[in-house]
Amino acid sequence: SAARDRYIKKTKTVCTYCGVGCSFDVWTDERHILKVEPGLGHANGISTCVKGKFGWDYVNSGDRLTTPLIREGDRFREASWDEALDLVARRLSEIRAKDGPDALAFIASSKATNEEAFLVQKFARQVIGTNNVDNCSRYCQSPATAGLIRTVGIGGDSGTIRDIEQASMVITIGSNAAESHPVLATRVKRAQKLGRTKLVVFDIREHELARRSDLFLRPRPGTDFVWLSAVSRFIVEQGLHDRAFVEARVNGLDEYLESISGYTLAYAEQETGIPAATLEAFARDLAAQEGVCILWAMGVTQQCGGSDTSAAISNLLLLTGNYGRTGTGAYPLRGHNNVQGASDMGAMPDQVSGYQRVGDPLTVQRHEREWGVTLRPERGLDNTQMIDAAIEGRLKALWLTGEEMSLTDANANHLERGYEALEFFVVQDLYFTNTARYADVVLPASPSLEKEGTFTSTERRIQRLYQVMEPLRGTRPDWQIYSAVARRLGFDWSYAHPAEIMDEIARLTPFYAGVNYARLEGYETLCWPVAEDGTDTPLLYRDRFHFPDGKAVLYPATYKPRQNAPDAEFDLHLNSGRMLEHFHEGNMTFRVHGIAEKAPDTFVELSPELAAERAVQSGQWVRLISPHGAVRLRALVTGRVSGNEVYVPMNARRAEDAVNRLTGSGGDSITNTPAYKDTSVRMEVLNDV
Ligand code: SF4
Repeated sequence: SAARDRYIKKTKTVCTYCGVGCSFDVWTDERHILKVEPGLGHANGISTCVKGKFGWDYVNSGDRLTTPLIREGDRFREASWDEALDLVARRLSEIRAKDGPDALAFIASSKATNEEAFLVQKFARQVIGTNNVDNCSRYCQSPATAGLIRTVGIGGDSGTIRDIEQASMVITIGSNAAESHPVLATRVKRAQKLGRTKLVVFDIREHELARRSDLFLRPRPGTDFVWLSAVSRFIVEQGLHDRAFVEARVNGLDEYLESISGYTLAYAEQETGIPAATLEAFARDLAAQEGVCILWAMGVTQQCGGSDTSAAISNLLLLTGNYGRTGTGAYPLRGHNNVQGASDMGAMPDQVSGYQRVGDPLTVQRHEREWGVTLRPERGLDNTQMIDAAIEGRLKALWLTGEEMSLTDANANHLERGYEALEFFVVQDLYFTNTARYADVVLPASPSLEKEGTFTSTERRIQRLYQVMEPLRGTRPDWQIYSAVARRLGFDWSYAHPAEIMDEIARLTPFYAGVNYARLEGYETLCWPVAEDGTDTPLLYRDRFHFPDGKAVLYPATYKPRQNAPDAEFDLHLNSGRMLEHFHEGNMTFRVHGIAEKAPDTFVELSPELAAERAVQSGQWVRLISPHGAVRLRALVTGRVSGNEVYVPMNARRAEDAVNRLTGSGGDSITNTPAYKDTSVRMEVLNDV
């Protein structure tokens, strides 16, 4: 009826789950979500995945926090916003006065908007005066960014998601894209089905894309650097590289070749277990392709040498001339909806927005003019270092936004010791999370459907989201919370709307120079870098790489073998990752009824051979034990894993059984990203439950 239609509203939003960046029209009646339709989005077109289509009920979960909480001894009591914000401002200022600005640290959320991530780092740098600020890309994608910055100069996907369909060969390495980035994987599957694209998968697990691939190769865990370097060396040795491209556009060939001189195909076979003849055939095929895209994710980055392997991927693309054209290039697949944006916005300890170094004189000058304070030139603490500093007593206060660190960080038991050592801990989230149990103040935030802002997807695409519904009573959008505390500490930012924050971002960030809300109206999007006149850059490196002379660099990286290979005591290799139905730790998706029913809990995948050897059947309880902790899980016997390989999804109903009780703190030497995938465990079969 006409009366009813008056209340039904259609609003454009952007998916709040993975980094593909699908966009939707959401039909609502007040807070009731009637339907979610794929919009005219660049990434998805008419397709979507189960999370984007059905995964929104978490906004109306009865578990939403609706009032700030303040700790009193072992309990929490409800407080007004004014009381909670006054307390946060007072404690932050007392700790700064007593222990200096570097005793405080801030973590931005990769689920929140660009504008909010920008304000977290602005708060740290302008209001407090510290570079101790980071975001969760530290746990996933920082090594990919580091590898690309060393070789081509920009830490982002080379082209758009649609461009991948134009490649004659798509290679995925350590990426379960069909479950982690479903809509992007659909495009790859379609291109392959139409006969346009050959799909090659390197992975230790036989996931869906592996089963569909034209060639599936299973290197030993953590050895991708070796086959990449051996294939690169073979291609040059046989004269199959793109000589003209390398001569015209790339520096450092000699030094690079020297660095990979020992990487013969025979050595690669010995180290990775892939036959030399198979690698040779693959190398010849790759070198003959029109266009190659390489997609990679956590199987590469969450290793001791994640940055070096990411550089090795880029080196192979450079040698074969696979940059600067549609259907070529490097595609690190970003996990969270806005993990690209949180890094773009400078929620990092050494860079402000747009990857500008904190010590760079021009950057300092620009920020001085805009913010009226001088940036500190030295690097601050990253996420991993923050926890160590808390345990050592150097870090006293932490303000964490929208992240369930207790489940997603490596070495959860160590992490919780860090929380306990803090003098003051603020957790800002939708729910009373496992991490919130350790907080002194818990602030109830609003999810994406309840606010305006922008997200930047894996393809560097900036998109607007509109407010679908009012913030749930008692909650506030993150940008308003930071603004309210900044005001209490003497900095009146006075933003009336997130559009004004974006205008400031544009003034401070050359990559975002031409970004404003008017240019992002509705389904309009921009891929950064965006020039002041609004011209954007869907495809990078057409004419030049992002270095002063415009040339890329073949980077002489080094192999960092894994440190925790299985031994007599811990005899199984543990792998972890996502599953289609759940997002990360599952805090949102476990609160979506249909999803929780379909995938009620986590499990451990065992190979048929291991299950037979240990006499375990699907459904039986087992305990996995590592040097760092133990968890109890149900077994699932499946051919996806082989031999002594076990796999546990990262979502968990019970924090005490989260896979990251098992992982350790050691990691990539360049970025401090934990080597989640370098973990060995032993298994006990539990017959008594
Ligand atoms: Fe959302 Fe990613 Fe699914 Fe698209 S593919 S609907 S962005 S979770």
